[in-house]
Amino acid sequence: MNVLSFYPLFLKCAKVTIDSRKIEENDLFFAFSGENFDAATLAENAIKKGALAVIVENKKFENEKENIFYVPSTLIFLQQLAKHHRNQLSIPIIGLTGSNGKTTTKEIIHAVLSQKYNIQYTVGNLNNHIGVPLTLLSIKPEHEIAVIEMGANHQQEIEILCELAQPNFGYITNFGKAHLEGFGGFEGVIKGKSELYDYLKSNSQTILVNESDPIQLEKTKDYEPKITFGTASSDYQFDEFSKDNLVGLSYQGNQALSKLTGNYNFTNLCAAASLGFQFGLKFNQIKMAIENYEPTNMRSQVVEKNGKTFIMDTYNANPSSMTESLKNFSQFEGSKTIIIGDMLELGDESEKEHEAILDLANSLNFDEIITVGSEFKNINTISKAYQSSQELIAYLKLNKINSKNILLKASRGIALEQITNFIV
Ligand code: ATP
Ligand code: MG
Repeated sequence: MNVLSFYPLFLKCAKVTIDSRKIEENDLFFAFSGENFDAATLAENAIKKGALAVIVENKKFENEKENIFYVPSTLIFLQQLAKHHRNQLSIPIIGLTGSNGKTTTKEIIHAVLSQKYNIQYTVGNLNNHIGVPLTLLSIKPEHEIAVIEMGANHQQEIEILCELAQPNFGYITNFGKAHLEGFGGFEGVIKGKSELYDYLKSNSQTILVNESDPIQLEKTKDYEPKITFGTASSDYQFDEFSKDNLVGLSYQGNQALSKLTGNYNFTNLCAAASLGFQFGLKFNQIKMAIENYEPTNMRSQVVEKNGKTFIMDTYNANPSSMTESLKNFSQFEGSKTIIIGDMLELGDESEKEHEAILDLANSLNFDEIITVGSEFKNINTISKAYQSSQELIAYLKLNKINSKNILLKASRGIALEQITNFIV
């Protein structure tokens, strides 16, 4: 089975899925399973559920009549199909990578551009070697622009994702201390993320640059085409303002206040607004999008409950985003408790980075500091330290948190959101 001969069948399918629970009538199902039994059962069940076709890795289950197709590697076939599909599309694709803020920026770009266009974009955080092809395959003829989030935790990943998505516009949200282990330190992060620039440059595509970031500035100097924001001489100039701990953007005297907290979100808003202008939107349309966008995904989410203000930032954490989060939270009015969990995947740097965060937290005069996870517990000798979210829950069942403002931030693995029901 090759991609070219399979493509017409793909065009007839309703959607592509790798999740057998999500199969519906006329779907194309990729059976990602090494186990013989699983693959057979999955394939047969998929057909029973009305799948138009199934791709399997085990020749034994091929059945042309019932539309079960054998390929040597489901993953490679998925990627090749996605690449071929992308080649047939003439719409602009915006590729995003960076250490922090990809999903948030993607969501805001989607909100902005949707004011004028029919946009397809990465669902949730499906940003890897499987998620990117699935997103590409979800682009239908009615879509006018696509926004693709590209994640990576080691070298060459972004290069591969760029080969698939072939972005016409690209933006690196930031270079931060995330996935240091896989990238081989901070220099490795810069190199790995810059694979997006490498692709755009070798294909003469447009780079969106935050010129207030010295690394972005340096990496894109003398390059054209680019769209810039971030300084007084950039193409688009925005000023930051804030109200009730929420961040807003002003442009030529007009203001748009978001429902996001955190100064870093100003940058995310600027990136989306710049692309909005680039694609011909008026400021009023951009403002509408910014004001209506509701973060709902545990990222910079502000929740008011029983007279308390919660900052839910439990989706992920690394030294860069933790630092920004703490600094931002320290400016809140009223008493403040921080509940911070381990930042995972830091390799050799882990202890040093956790120490730096704890030092920062201690210097910011919070009323109460609580840490969760073994990395913090090993070094935290002065404030409350819990081994896990479960251990903290046991404490919270007996003790109240009195502060008006409470920040929750940790890596995904700490599952810190579990504690929310026990705080109020
Ligand atoms: P992932 O690698 O999990 O896909 P991501 O890059 O998509 O992460 P988001 O999920 O958008 O990032 O945001 C995660 C956290 O990063 C936010 O909750 C916030 O604390 C922080 N963050 C968001 N934007 C920025 C930014 N521009 N610079 C630094 N930190 C940011
Ligand atoms: Mg993400």
